Amino acid sequence: MSKYIFTLGGVMSGVGKGVTTASVGKILQARGYTVTAIKIDPYVNVDAGTMNPVEHGEVFVTEDGDETDQDIGNYERFLGIDIKRDNYMTTGRVYQSVIQRERNLEYKGQCVEVVPHIPEEVIHRIKKAARKSKADITIVEIGGTVGEYQNILFLEAARMMHYRNPDDVLFILVSYLPVPGKLGEMKTKPTQYAVRQVNSVGIQPDFVVCRSTEPLDEPRKKKISVFCNVRKEDIISAPDVESIYHVPVNFEKEKLSEKILTKLKLKAKKQDLKEWKKMMNASSRSKKTVKIGMVGKYFASGHFILPDAYISVIEAVKHAAAENKVRVDIDWINSDSYEKNKKKIKELDKYDGIIVPGGFGYRGVEGKILAIKYARENKIPFFGLCYGMQLATIEFARNVCGLKDASSTEFRPNTKYPVIHIMEGQAEKLSKKQYGNTMRLGAWPCVLDKNSQSAKLYGKSRISERHRHRYEFNNEFRQKLTKKGLLLPGLSPDKKLVEIIELSQHPFFIGTQFHPEFTSRPLEPHPLFVGFMKAALTRYSKK
Ligand code: GLN
Repeated sequence: MSKYIFTLGGVMSGVGKGVTTASVGKILQARGYTVTAIKIDPYVNVDAGTMNPVEHGEVFVTEDGDETDQDIGNYERFLGIDIKRDNYMTTGRVYQSVIQRERNLEYKGQCVEVVPHIPEEVIHRIKKAARKSKADITIVEIGGTVGEYQNILFLEAARMMHYRNPDDVLFILVSYLPVPGKLGEMKTKPTQYAVRQVNSVGIQPDFVVCRSTEPLDEPRKKKISVFCNVRKEDIISAPDVESIYHVPVNFEKEKLSEKILTKLKLKAKKQDLKEWKKMMNASSRSKKTVKIGMVGKYFASGHFILPDAYISVIEAVKHAAAENKVRVDIDWINSDSYEKNKKKIKELDKYDGIIVPGGFGYRGVEGKILAIKYARENKIPFFGLCYGMQLATIEFARNVCGLKDASSTEFRPNTKYPVIHIMEGQAEKLSKKQYGNTMRLGAWPCVLDKNSQSAKLYGKSRISERHRHRYEFNNEFRQKLTKKGLLLPGLSPDKKLVEIIELSQHPFFIGTQFHPEFTSRPLEPHPLFVGFMKAALTRYSKK
């Protein structure tokens, strides 16, 4: 039987509930327990795959091909495990299965009601995921903020689980304490209200994790404790930190794992965070800062720049920087800006490496192609991920092979040179408007050419990587492009699909049809990102 920890959010979103969940998982895992994590998203979408990344952030892809919330990525990175489809649910997914069961007469003639049938389905799913992961401890993050209408049924499920097994379930509320500039004082009132909101659905938090720009001081700990009915030692200070990977170690300064284990009536075994701490400090001790330019388009939200859509890429870059023992500075570059002002492209000189990440549609494409051309011609290390690889293929076809107007049928259906075209079976799905969860998804094997830079970096010739795409390299152009020097060192085992492109005579020019960022972890950085960072460091050192 697993023990369960629910993480809930108070006051506002985006304060680090996912990182808290992942970090709590990490410190319990470091005590010798098997831990898994579940994300519950309150929206009606069945998965995250159909959502606009500007609005929702990155769509994370699991080994088994689920399109999930970016928090699943945090769980994988902190816990170093593969999270399965069972560990992700949305309102849409829950309702879908209840309705399906009802249609199958599985409720045996009962009147199927929102309560209790929906929370019971949620509990069923939580327990199934825990069982399948063989977890001693399962952490369940409930998306959204308490007090919202949307997550109420999930909170009800959590309440029911606690009511049935009070010793096996506990609650962590992740709250936010503002320090308004004009006042210069940390305010606790929003947190007090948040706890009252949680109380109103029959839940008493066991711990309050207090996110803020500053550490929590004694007077405020006391205040929250008294007004929120939580022991003072269970009010956890969680100030902003240099990197999210410091969070587990900070939690341990407050002895959080010990306190949690005591409440769950589990033994606090000896802790091991040695490797973690080593990784955590690897970059911060360096005096070198490598500069990476990320040319994308899902950044702008009104007046604000949000890199959330590329979170796994950013983390993978950081892992690789730590592995190379350097600091890294990443700039977000809106590819549209190169379309509007062609001369601006020269700014790319200041970067030690350029990444063109995944994407969809035509907006920003020509700017990305200009950036790729610049990186290729000026020998700036370049790494193209999925769309980045497809656009690098197009750039090569246009500017090296002279196939003017070479393109992808994704955005130019009638192009004369469709060097990237739709995959077999995908056109039919699109014509039937079957958009949800129908791309080529999840892990697929790939065989590498032993002499390639990629194979050398991986140190092996058979790999498996995660995918999310509908379009692919068009094999009709293999000969034309390879004749001019494009290398295709990674193919599917049946040799039908091009998974990697590479250029020799360039310090680092690699494009992958897959998304290596999804499998990079702080303790196991991805070899291609490590190689890219190494090339960037070489360029940096020459300056
Ligand atoms: N839009 C491209 C495709 O569907 C690339 C997808 C991506 O970058 N994830 O194939």
